[in-house]
Amino acid sequence: MATDPLIIYLDGKLVPESEAKISVFDHGLLYGDGCFEGIRIYNGRVFRLTEHLKRLYESARSICLTIPIDFAEMEKATLDTVAANHLRDGYIRLVVTRGVGSLGLNPYQCPKASVIIIASGITLYPKEKYETGLNLITCATRRPASAALSPQVKSLNYLNNIMAKIECIQAGCEEGIMLNEQGYVAECTGDNVFILKNGQIYTPTIASGALNGITRMAVIEVMQEMGLAIHEVTMTRHDIYTADECFLTGTAAEVIPAVQYDRRPIGDGKPGRLTTQIIANFKALANSTGTPVVYS
Ligand code: PMP
Repeated sequence: MATDPLIIYLDGKLVPESEAKISVFDHGLLYGDGCFEGIRIYNGRVFRLTEHLKRLYESARSICLTIPIDFAEMEKATLDTVAANHLRDGYIRLVVTRGVGSLGLNPYQCPKASVIIIASGITLYPKEKYETGLNLITCATRRPASAALSPQVKSLNYLNNIMAKIECIQAGCEEGIMLNEQGYVAECTGDNVFILKNGQIYTPTIASGALNGITRMAVIEVMQEMGLAIHEVTMTRHDIYTADECFLTGTAAEVIPAVQYDRRPIGDGKPGRLTTQIIANFKALANSTGTPVVYS
C-alpha cells in the first residue's frame, strides 16, 4: 500500500523522511544513549503533551543529556510536526539522541544532542484483541533494579523489554508480566498493569519498578471519577491469577483487557464489565481533551 512520505522534524527543520538521516557516530545508535517519548493524537489534539514533555526532560536530566531546545520550543516543534503531516489521529515518537561523538562511551565528547520528531500511526495489538482480550505470560527476563537503571528513565536502551517481548511472542502471547528482582510484579514489556478484585482496583507501586505511565495516571483519574477505590500495592503473580478483571495501559496500547495469565483464565476469561466501562470513559477523555493542533 502506497502512503505519502512523512515530514520529519530533525534538529530544527521539517524535512521529507528520505532526508531525515543521522550519523553512524551518533551515540543513540552506538550505545542506545538518549531518551524518547511516545505520545498520542486524538481528534486533532495531542493528549497529555505537557506530561510527556516533562517526563522527557526529566529522563534527559537524569542521564546528563542537554536537550538543545527548551520546553516551549519542543512543544511547538511537536505540534508543527503533527500539522505538517495533517494528522488528526496518530502517534508521535519524540527522540533525543546523545549526538555525534567518538567511538568510546564518553558522552561528554558528544557536543550536541539531536532531536527527532516522527508523527505517524501505531497499531500495537490486533483490533479484535480490544474486544476479546490479551493472553499474558510471566517473562523470565526481570526488570532491572532501580540501582542499575531507573525504570523512570525512558531511555533509547529498551533491550531488557525487547528480551521479554521475544519471550511473549515465542509463547504465542502478545504481552507479558515482568517481575522485579524480588519477584513482585512491576509492569509489562511496554504497558502498565491493573487488576480488579471485589470492586477495588490494584496496580503495582512505581517503586516496584513500573514506569510512571502517563496513561496509568489518566486511567487512575478516570477510575476516581467513577468512584472506584485504587490501591498502589506490592503485587504478586497470585494476585493476578485470582483477580476478577485485568487490563493494561500504555500510550500505544491505550487501555486493553487481559483475559488469561500463565494459561489461567482471569475471572471468567472474558473482558470484565468494569474494564469495558473504563475503556469507554478513557476514550471519552482522550477524545475531548489535549493540546489543539493548528492546521494550516
Ligand atoms: N511501561 C513501559 C516499559 C513502557 O515502555 C510504557 C510505554 N511508554 C509504559 C509502561 C506505559 O507508559 P505510557 O502510558 O506513559 O505510555
